[in-house]
Amino acid sequence: MKQITGGMVYYYYVCKRKLWYFAHQLDMEPTSELVGMGKLIDEQSYCREKKHILIDDTINIDFLKSWKIVHEVKKSRSIEPASIWQLKYYMTVLEKKGLEIEKGILDFPKIRKREIIYLTDEDKVEIERTLDDIRSIVDYPFPPELVKKSICKKCAYYEFCFI
Ligand code: SF4
Repeated sequence: MKQITGGMVYYYYVCKRKLWYFAHQLDMEPTSELVGMGKLIDEQSYCREKKHILIDDTINIDFLKSWKIVHEVKKSRSIEPASIWQLKYYMTVLEKKGLEIEKGILDFPKIRKREIIYLTDEDKVEIERTLDDIRSIVDYPFPPELVKKSICKKCAYYEFCFI
């Protein structure tokens, strides 16, 4: 399997079925209106910062301040645990590259909030467990069982699951 992206870690915590669809190139997200809005916020809010650092052709960091503080920009706090784990994954990758990462910051420009995130040793263990689980899910020949969620109606894969 190709490298695990931040988006895959995010989807793992949102919905494992969504992760499977995404990993099997059923990538509907660029046409989703909600994702489009997220990108617009991103482009308008941080134009003075150095942005979009691509690592190993896989990890796309929104921006990195002083090589120590990793920022991830989100449009809302609706699926915050997934955003936190995505950011912690980025911090883990950068640490493995030899950087001394001080903290992560989840930015919510639309609501003018930010949240400071620290990476603990327990988090690093959880990330490794998550990466193993992601590899197993992606290797399934079929998508994982359908579990209906409150977010389904806004999901780009809704038609795959319910129609
Ligand atoms: S519609 Fe719901 S169950 Fe299906 S992929 Fe999206 S979030 Fe997951």
